[in-house]
Amino acid sequence: MQTWPSPSVPRVPGTPRPLRLHDTSTGEIRPTTPGATANMYVCGITPYDATHLGHAATYLAFDLVYRQWLDNDHDVHYVQNVTDVDDPLLERAVRDQDDWVVLAMRETALFREDMAALRVLPPREYLGAVESIPEIVEAVAKLLADGLAYRADDPEHPDIYFDRLASGHFGSVSNYDEPTMGRYFAERGGDPDRPGKRHPLDALLWRTARPGEPSWESELGPGRPGWHVECSVIALNQLGMGFDVQGGGSDLIFPHHEFSAAHAEALTGQHPFARHYAHAGMIGLDGEKMSKSRGNLVFVSRLRADKVDMMALRLGLFSGHYREDRAWSAEVLADAQTRLGRWRDAVGRDSGPDADDTIARLRDHLANDLDTPQALRAVDAWVNATLAGDGSDLSAPLRVREAVDALLGVEL
Ligand code: ZN
Repeated sequence: MQTWPSPSVPRVPGTPRPLRLHDTSTGEIRPTTPGATANMYVCGITPYDATHLGHAATYLAFDLVYRQWLDNDHDVHYVQNVTDVDDPLLERAVRDQDDWVVLAMRETALFREDMAALRVLPPREYLGAVESIPEIVEAVAKLLADGLAYRADDPEHPDIYFDRLASGHFGSVSNYDEPTMGRYFAERGGDPDRPGKRHPLDALLWRTARPGEPSWESELGPGRPGWHVECSVIALNQLGMGFDVQGGGSDLIFPHHEFSAAHAEALTGQHPFARHYAHAGMIGLDGEKMSKSRGNLVFVSRLRADKVDMMALRLGLFSGHYREDRAWSAEVLADAQTRLGRWRDAVGRDSGPDADDTIARLRDHLANDLDTPQALRAVDAWVNATLAGDGSDLSAPLRVREAVDALLGVEL
């Protein structure tokens, strides 16, 4: 798929810091240890609706991972998918009497515009489920041939399911107990009560054709892929096993990331799928969880239409830590707009205090599991001093502006 234009990233003089990141699998903040090329896969959208602030917060968090790796001189191989065929998309198309392909293309195009406006660095590969179907079919056929998957006991719809224990590592991403798994499986697109499965938690790999649903001819029979295997196959084929970071929102920990890993590990006999599983918290609005059912989603495109500066949106979302569930409100945005104005004022001055210490602190905080609240405060301190007329370093305003651009993605 077509991706979006990349903003340029200035080089920042001084000493970069290796990135330490929280890993859900071990529950620890650990160093990322990429080679010359750092490999990252972040789950993309299901394009049935516009990008809301929860999506923006997730992609901005991983944009910071990308930027810290760039600062450390790694080449970054970033892969993202688009789940351009799945139940939520088809259901929305039916509800709105829309063509599902047109809906998916329209929302994907809007997502690209939102990401470009937010100055998110684009993935090198941006791949749809539909264009990946031949590779997915090959993987599902192998799992079936190896006895790691099975057909549901249902002559009319012999859908193919993954035996959750096939990898030998099931549960190692989320560390959830079975009741918790059961609850999330039911809430997040699973089908625990589907007759003909061997175990309620076994996950769908291939859904056989149903009337009124799109399907593709294949050696598995006509049908369409399950969600988790889409990401397993795309990540495996683009990055291979043991890539550096698998990312997404915390609502993807289970079942999605657990099964993406389990499928790939069962396919290859290798472990782990990813060396870090990193997850961004959820965004609420005025104290309530932001969700479709509550009808309180704040869309990035709506804010763009209202002429909200996307750099203020970045600063507003960075004012909380990426792993925390946190609230968005008019006040958060107003504070971010004030901060952005002060930062722009300061970097527009002729001189300020020496920038070395500020840039070092900015790097330290970001390298420490993307501690953006502290990173913003480090810049605030320099901005406050500059606006107070302290310092006479003529190069400092430009150096701070470039460091904020490169490391935080905020253009001043
Ligand atoms: Zn995914």
